[in-house]
Amino acid sequence: LPEQEAFDIEYWLLEEAKLQRLPKPKSLAGRVALVTGGAGGIGAATAERLLTEGVCVMLADIDAVALGDTAESLTRRHGKDVVRTVQMNVTDEAQVTAAYAAAAVEFGGIDILVSNAGIASSAPIEDTSLALWNKNMDILSTGYFLVSREAFRLMRTQGIGGSVVFVASKNGLAASPNASAYCTAKAAEIHLARCLALEGAEAGIRVNVVNPDAVLRGSKIWSGEWLDQRASTYKTDKDGLEEMYRQRSLLKRSVLPEDIAEAVYFLASDLAAKSTGNILNVDAGNKEAFTR
Ligand code: NAD
Repeated sequence: LPEQEAFDIEYWLLEEAKLQRLPKPKSLAGRVALVTGGAGGIGAATAERLLTEGVCVMLADIDAVALGDTAESLTRRHGKDVVRTVQMNVTDEAQVTAAYAAAAVEFGGIDILVSNAGIASSAPIEDTSLALWNKNMDILSTGYFLVSREAFRLMRTQGIGGSVVFVASKNGLAASPNASAYCTAKAAEIHLARCLALEGAEAGIRVNVVNPDAVLRGSKIWSGEWLDQRASTYKTDKDGLEEMYRQRSLLKRSVLPEDIAEAVYFLASDLAAKSTGNILNVDAGNKEAFTR
């Protein structure tokens, strides 16, 4: 063999041997996840993904009707023993505490928190009322604080670590026109996650962020005032917006709730055992980042 080729083969044999000795990623089977906003698009897709891996899921959402419908459909596929629901407003301290207590009673504790419940509501700065500003801050920033504080309290008591995944937004890093309240609240979520990663490390609590770009299909956000607001900002309709987001991505693909669910699963699992304080953008490639 030529010298270089022999070297390459020896190198790869050594690498392979190293891989064989690495512990195999542990399965998530038997763990318990609380998924906020679990009745909606990304939350429901995430619950589906985790249930497929054998995780027991507590769906927490403010919308009792949607919660019931989603739970029924998940139960049909995964069985009634692994799905529970709790109606909870993430801005209500007592309801958040009660949701964790319910999870402890039903499943014996929580290993994974997916903090995902959210809204999208914004306006040009001149038209942003204090109420609109506070609504974004309350549900997104304060809501994420309340659910993760309870997760930390419970996970520390359990003493076996845990994984917290925030579904934030690309808008928490990149400014978007006429959406300062939403963007600012999402930026606070991302920074909260970093602070918590620092605080949780010693107790084995990992905290990471998934940042979706626009997920138009399967999300309730894109059927209400946010859709009207974005459509008027970009002077197009829903199909035009989806095409705009698709075209601005490197891969020229739309992002779906299942894509976000896959990223959440990865960060929640031991596949990401060495990741904390990190951000995983799921945006089909951000063209702007390469042209700046
Ligand atoms: P969705 O509206 O389909 O689902 C959100 C869920 O959160 C709903 O079931 C809703 O009832 C629930 N919810 C809202 N306020 C709540 C509250 N106060 N307490 C408890 N539950 C509450 O939206 P989605 O697209 O699945 O959004 C999920 C998350 O992803 C949100 O945080 C959103 O900001 C973020 N996100 C979405 C997109 C997108 O384009 N869809 C992009 C980036 C980030």
